[in-house]
Amino acid sequence: MTSKPLAVSLALATLTLSTTFSLQPDQHKVLLVSFDGFRWDYLYKVPTPHFHYMMKSGVHVKQVSNIFITKTYPNHYTMVTGLFAESHGIVANDMFDPILNKSFSLDHMNIYDSEFWEEATPIWITNQRAGHATGSAMWPGTDVKIHKSFATHYMPYNESVSFEDRVAKIIEWFTAEKPINLGLLYWEDPDDMGHHLGPDSPLMGPVIADIDDKLGYLIQMLKKAKLWNVVNLIITSDHGMTQCSEDRVIELDQYLDKDHYTLIDQSPVAAILPKEGKFDEVYEALADAHPNLTVYKKEEIPKRWHYTRNERIQPIIAVADEGWYILQNKSDDFLLGNHGYDNALAEMHPIFLAHGPAFRKNFTKEAMNSTDLYPLLCHLLNITAMPHNGSFRNVQDLLRSAAPKAIPYTQTTTLLLGTDKPGAYEQEESYPYFIGVSLGIMIVIVFFVIFIKHFIPSQVPALQDRQAEIAQPLLQA
Ligand SMILES: [Zn+2]
Repeated sequence: MTSKPLAVSLALATLTLSTTFSLQPDQHKVLLVSFDGFRWDYLYKVPTPHFHYMMKSGVHVKQVSNIFITKTYPNHYTMVTGLFAESHGIVANDMFDPILNKSFSLDHMNIYDSEFWEEATPIWITNQRAGHATGSAMWPGTDVKIHKSFATHYMPYNESVSFEDRVAKIIEWFTAEKPINLGLLYWEDPDDMGHHLGPDSPLMGPVIADIDDKLGYLIQMLKKAKLWNVVNLIITSDHGMTQCSEDRVIELDQYLDKDHYTLIDQSPVAAILPKEGKFDEVYEALADAHPNLTVYKKEEIPKRWHYTRNERIQPIIAVADEGWYILQNKSDDFLLGNHGYDNALAEMHPIFLAHGPAFRKNFTKEAMNSTDLYPLLCHLLNITAMPHNGSFRNVQDLLRSAAPKAIPYTQTTTLLLGTDKPGAYEQEESYPYFIGVSLGIMIVIVFFVIFIKHFIPSQVPALQDRQAEIAQPLLQA
């Protein structure tokens, strides 16, 4: 009779204590996948059975607030640094740095100039400094030498390499004799087709269905390699996409003299560098030029964009309303879909799903920030994070065990450049651990009380008598 409560108490104590510890050592593995330009609601445009399988067997975040500007390079660098663009330095796909006197452009080889990337330290470098290995299939920046290093294994960027070949490399690296703990996988669609067709086109249906097939292929390959239940798989994207129209074009030539400025970046955020002595003239000519264009002097850029404190942000930026397109003149290229707009717009938001030993099952979360991904990745990899703008606390509820086993990265998480508050979570995230331990201790105490009750029955009446005696005067009083 005495063994039952005893066993229950012991089991409860063990359970409580064990839930305070997180991943096993061999479960600190992550595969981060980005399907470029996968808008959050594409999941519901056509049947996407593989995405829905991920949602059911893992976690899904409905709204991810990415960073301004909602372009590819700035957002991919945020995912791996946790920093806003003004802090990591990749402020656009097309940039000019007046101090370096150099340009950066997606369409040119100058993206391989290390100096543009070295205002931050991406996670693969930190992971490698901690003694681990990273493998990257075309993730932006991994084939650039940053702080004297590349990713341990990487495929030099080549858009003609198939998705299947990229997956094969990732699997090979995860199953190698010296395996990677961090895999990064990038795929160009549905961004490419979204630009050409426009997201509202019915032809986007098959494009999204094709991405769903690609996810299905990835899951199948992970299962075949016995990695599905071992690796923490995160499927996300850099931004969404909105429909544009040739009826919604803002032509800068109508308002500005071409000789008065250099257009560094075009649409939907025009980055304008006025020629010497022409600042006021350019600003005044553009300020009220068009009802769907908002023009900011650099120091007036809204704080919520965290887009001021960097030399690569030009003295004037002009931001188009959603769906509007900025061209210098109508002979410039025009695309039916575009992104880069205000990051508060839902259409700019990407997807976020995750599955693996660390994640809860069939769990939906309303919102997170893309800057929160970085501290989450550091937690999953059990490495020390660099200073960042994210918060682990914001995303901790995605995990099965709320209590991290290792909290060492909290030691250095303070914020750069005075941008918003650093993670206030730094102490708070250890609370669940202490709560768990306290609960465990309480259960152990309960166990001892039960033990005493059942194994020393002869002592109990005497004890009760004494307690009654002591209690008497109190009751009377
Ligand atoms: Zn993109």
